[in-house]
Amino acid sequence: MNTPKRYTVTTALPYTNGPIHIGHLAGVYVPADIYVRYLRLTGNDVAFIGGSDEHGVPITIKAKNEGVSPQDIVDKYHAIIKKSFEDFGITYDNYSRTSAPIHHETASEFFKTLYDKGEFIEETTEQLYDEQANQFLADRFVVGTCPKCGNEEAYGDQCEKCGASLNATDLINPKSALTGNVPTLKETKHWFLPLDKHEAFLKEWILEGHKKDWKPNVYGQVKSWIDDGLRPRAVTRDLDWGIPVPVEGGEGKVLYVWFDAPIGYISSTKEWAAREGKDWEPYWKDEDTKLVHFIGKDNIVFHCIIFPAMLKAEGSYIMPDNVPANEFLNLEGNKLSTSKNWAVWLPEYLEEFPGQQDVLRYVLTANAPETKDNDFTWKDFQARNNNELVAIFGNFINRVVVLTNKYYEGEVPTPANFEAVDEETLAAVKAYPDVIASSIERYRFREAGQELMNLARLGNKYLADAEPWKVIKVDEERTKTIMYVALQIASALATLSEPFLPFTSEKLKGILNLEKALQWNEVTTEDVLLPASHKIGKAELLFSKIEDETIQKQLDKLEASKKANEAANKVVEPQKDTITFDDFTKLDLRVGTIIEAEKMPKTKKLLVLKVDTGLDVRTIVSGISESFKPEEVVGKQVTVLVNLAPRKLRGVESEGMILMTENAEGKLVFVNPDEANIANGLQIS
Ligand SMILES: [Zn+2]
Repeated sequence: MNTPKRYTVTTALPYTNGPIHIGHLAGVYVPADIYVRYLRLTGNDVAFIGGSDEHGVPITIKAKNEGVSPQDIVDKYHAIIKKSFEDFGITYDNYSRTSAPIHHETASEFFKTLYDKGEFIEETTEQLYDEQANQFLADRFVVGTCPKCGNEEAYGDQCEKCGASLNATDLINPKSALTGNVPTLKETKHWFLPLDKHEAFLKEWILEGHKKDWKPNVYGQVKSWIDDGLRPRAVTRDLDWGIPVPVEGGEGKVLYVWFDAPIGYISSTKEWAAREGKDWEPYWKDEDTKLVHFIGKDNIVFHCIIFPAMLKAEGSYIMPDNVPANEFLNLEGNKLSTSKNWAVWLPEYLEEFPGQQDVLRYVLTANAPETKDNDFTWKDFQARNNNELVAIFGNFINRVVVLTNKYYEGEVPTPANFEAVDEETLAAVKAYPDVIASSIERYRFREAGQELMNLARLGNKYLADAEPWKVIKVDEERTKTIMYVALQIASALATLSEPFLPFTSEKLKGILNLEKALQWNEVTTEDVLLPASHKIGKAELLFSKIEDETIQKQLDKLEASKKANEAANKVVEPQKDTITFDDFTKLDLRVGTIIEAEKMPKTKKLLVLKVDTGLDVRTIVSGISESFKPEEVVGKQVTVLVNLAPRKLRGVESEGMILMTENAEGKLVFVNPDEANIANGLQIS
């Protein structure tokens, strides 16, 4: 195990235009929190830094759409995001926001330093402009085709499909997101960070220095950008929401959101240090500090190329030691989407699964998209809870605590002679801190989480094999040893589960009555993890089974989102060829009532109906059996085309047609008069 160090750990700043969902959690916040909890348990000096990203175009667009100010939007979502992180047990040392004065100051100063050092290129260029909206179009104000991958929905600064970092003028067929207009070009002055100037440094630092320790997905993306050749990148924008450009000629312009946002890590660290009476600078400037950025794959270019180039240009900062970016998490086979409401939202989860934060933390870790995109399904969520957390971890602890209370009134028994299986089991337990640590330190959180479950499995199996509930009848001394060993495993679990299942760990420490739980390394170094004659508390369930109907509710919610999207996106059939009024008058449409209905034998779709048309009662065969049961349609008033030439369907002559359409769910519905009790036979014209 390593000697204690100073760590600065940051997480991508969430955008304050919506709540957090499982994609954010699995990609960034859960692994980061596991990492920092582990670092603290191993005695390191950690600053865990986060905050809300409150600038940028999506916020302006959302404010415009909702008719409120950008400040209203960020105030609302900052509060929601911050609270849900706290409730979910993400243990930030500081969670700040980029609209805070300390951030405006820090980002302004940073820009000025680079400006004074001559690190920018000042240039007047033609940029995309929306004549109707009277506004320059950058970033998300403009949508077009990505020149790299052909994605038709790429933004002015980035293509989310291939991850390419773009300039707005690179887009093919650009369109304004504000008006849909094709933009014109207009001259404007901006400051550019010449990334090409830092190419040699980036090559040496990443391509040569981090080939082995960075994740292949991160390294590969960075390499392909550098191989493509880096170009100067504008770091200012013609917008009114953001941090004003603090130099002459900067009036009416703000810093590019991706220039100011990563500086947010620094300002949040300053805010924390000021509150705690610490010096922030070692956390960002001391070569002994390990700086780690947790992000999603869409942010790799900003954290591995642009921000490091900014830090390098400034000159006094350290570089990140690692940027363990994850791939994306999908939901039930589809891409997570805020606009399509295809997500599991954290605030909703916390409300609908009270006290079950650890279940989601566990499942998102077990299924983390570490090396490729992965899928979250509710069935898997249920299975992992019921088959692993309940059946293995929970079951083991419950047996240990119940039996200790039953046999020894809650007192840890004094062991008699250790048999080989006891010695082996205790030795295996002592190996776990190193095994799990090695996975965590290589950012393999899935593996680490599974190793923790393996420790619970070891305990469960030990107890099942030793069968103290049988042995107690014949050998009381042997039973004491078995229970003693099992209690040692329970104590190890209380400590080692903390990074992964913090709420469970807390509860378990309470049940075991541990005033001071072991530190991570003590699970290995201490001979006794829970001493004989220590008194433990009563059993309490750590996890509870999740029933099918709970899962079905969640699936129904997603189904409703899908239906709503389909209805919103339904393609309307183009209008048919024009007909004359005479053509129309040839149709004889009448109001009628269905008086009998039965299924046509051996068919899936057909119902045989008797319809009172006012003229007569006639038979109409209708293909509506998949939408209605026969008894549902009897008595319905409908619209009938009565002069359609009769035709035989499965040997039954059908004399007319009933008019139908489809509702949003794709179910057939009758086109019927909007008033009841209209006489049958009335003509429709
Ligand atoms: Zn692309």
